[in-house]
Amino acid sequence: MNDHPTEWLSAYIDRELDAEERAKIERHLLECESCQAVAAELMDMRSQVEDFYGRLEAPRELEQRVLKELDRRAAASALTKTSTAAVPLVGLAALLALIVVYGASFWKLFAIVFQFLLTAAYVASHVAASIPAVWGTVLALSAGIFALSGWSLRRMLRSTAP
Ligand SMILES: [Zn+2]
Repeated sequence: MNDHPTEWLSAYIDRELDAEERAKIERHLLECESCQAVAAELMDMRSQVEDFYGRLEAPRELEQRVLKELDRRAAASALTKTSTAAVPLVGLAALLALIVVYGASFWKLFAIVFQFLLTAAYVASHVAASIPAVWGTVLALSAGIFALSGWSLRRMLRSTAP
């Protein structure tokens, strides 16, 4: 027999052939000792490879260890990012200075802004722990709202200042 399907044998052994191709190879293997030998060799090689990768299989506790490490890193990065919250805190200090200068009538507004900053920091730290990419958006948003409140405070100060 001349047309040995040697190039198909590997696919046959890896079960990558459709039913028709499979049947063709099987029919050929029944009557061709040469291809039977090649198929046996390929099968042997395959089982050796599987054996090799089987020994490389990850230890069972690896997943737990990876998850724990990810948790630890998320917590660490959340901590690092909390220190970036110093930026709105500087703004808050500036606001405090304004209040000291302009008197107690702005305590209520201050309390609202402070409450907002607290909420923003709380939300930011929690979001950062799960989805770091969102944290920047939250920070930008809170910075924007903070700037807006600062702007409206200035407007208010201008309209009520003597
Ligand atoms: Zn053959």
